[in-house]
Amino acid sequence: MHSDLANYRRDALTPTLCNALRHDYYKSAWHDALEQGSAEIVDDPMRFLSRLPPLGKGTLQTGLPPLLEKNEKIAFAIHTTGSTGPVTYRYRSDAELREIAGFFQQVAETIRGDRRRPLVYMLYGPYHGRDLSGLGGFFPQAAPYYFSGAVWDDIFIRQGIELLRKRFDVPGLDDRISQVHGAVRLLRVFTQCMIDAGVRATETGVETLVSFAGYLASESRNFLQRYWGVMPLEIFSFSEVMGGASKCPMCGALNFDPHLLPEVLSFTSAQAVDEGVGRLVVTELLPFGRSQPLIRYYNGDIVQRVKSLCPVCDQTDRIIHLGRDNESIILSESDNREVIIGSNQLREIAYCSEIARTAEYPHLRALKDRTTHVGAPFVACETIAGMNGGKTEVRLRFRPRQIGGSRSNLEDEVRQRSMQIAPGLGAAVESGKVDFRTHADDSLDSVLWK
Ligand SMILES: [Zn+2]
Repeated sequence: MHSDLANYRRDALTPTLCNALRHDYYKSAWHDALEQGSAEIVDDPMRFLSRLPPLGKGTLQTGLPPLLEKNEKIAFAIHTTGSTGPVTYRYRSDAELREIAGFFQQVAETIRGDRRRPLVYMLYGPYHGRDLSGLGGFFPQAAPYYFSGAVWDDIFIRQGIELLRKRFDVPGLDDRISQVHGAVRLLRVFTQCMIDAGVRATETGVETLVSFAGYLASESRNFLQRYWGVMPLEIFSFSEVMGGASKCPMCGALNFDPHLLPEVLSFTSAQAVDEGVGRLVVTELLPFGRSQPLIRYYNGDIVQRVKSLCPVCDQTDRIIHLGRDNESIILSESDNREVIIGSNQLREIAYCSEIARTAEYPHLRALKDRTTHVGAPFVACETIAGMNGGKTEVRLRFRPRQIGGSRSNLEDEVRQRSMQIAPGLGAAVESGKVDFRTHADDSLDSVLWK
């Protein structure tokens, strides 16, 4: 990490921890750490942080009511979709939003100088909490201007295409939309519609494609890149916090926004993992989280911490996202957790030409039959412990794209491919811990990801 960023986070951490202590939940949860000396919050906030228990999603749902000063009001609430558990709500007060606006204003001035505001076409979808409309006038004038778009019917799609072709003449704004942002699956749907409408990407002014919400598997990346002629940028984020991390296009390392302090902790304790696999926890630094502080928040993401230099992102201490804990194949032995197949790797395995796809958005007339680029793969992955000789059987079932034909060749292809994509699986099979089997099943209707 570059030292100015580390210093920024360290300086912001002391007031962040002091603010959190106003909250009953933290007063009680940090009891042991405070016993060892609260002066450390000021002297060495990183060390104090390292002794704190992680905050689980369940506590955010039930134990963290917003803390308001006298006359302060809730001005903004956002909910998560619940795709990774029960729906979670996050609140921000009017005073907090004003502070956040000031923060964004500073950032925008640093980055943008006197340049004109870029125009962004944002595909709205209820999959992720990046709907910015609730922030209303809080966004600074120097920030990008967002047009909201959607893929839910033909009218939205026609309007989107028209907007991307249009030239604007508004003082202070760019003359064309240069960026399209959206959840991976919405970008796929919209792109397929552009192709079907016979529109070439060169008829638009789009220079940047940003995907968020969901892992961008290489098959999706290639599909988008082929049409748009640019490499899509991937943002890792979760609804509970504003902002997130951009992913290095080379190594996949997460480059977090300055106000988010990431750490990698052991699966079973609050101990930091110096190198290797663990849980990602994030602390939201002030001015974010004044009314509802998130300190060492664990959202269910598993990551790998790697200590070697990547020449592209120039990081020597890299955090690589492996996937979601509840969608990954993990072997558990007492205190040890071994990630056999991360959910991101599962997606890489499943998005291949041999595996059939659902007709996603079947209600959408225009997309009904376009299952190639918008559907989710028919796959199911399970582990069965205690098979012959105490081995764990990892079983991947899939519905083949072609009905009939030779099953065993297909099963073997998917098996080989899986072992290549998930090195943890290959190692576990080689060491005799895991028996890995693939089954082609024409009647399978399970889908790993909705
Ligand atoms: Zn990198």
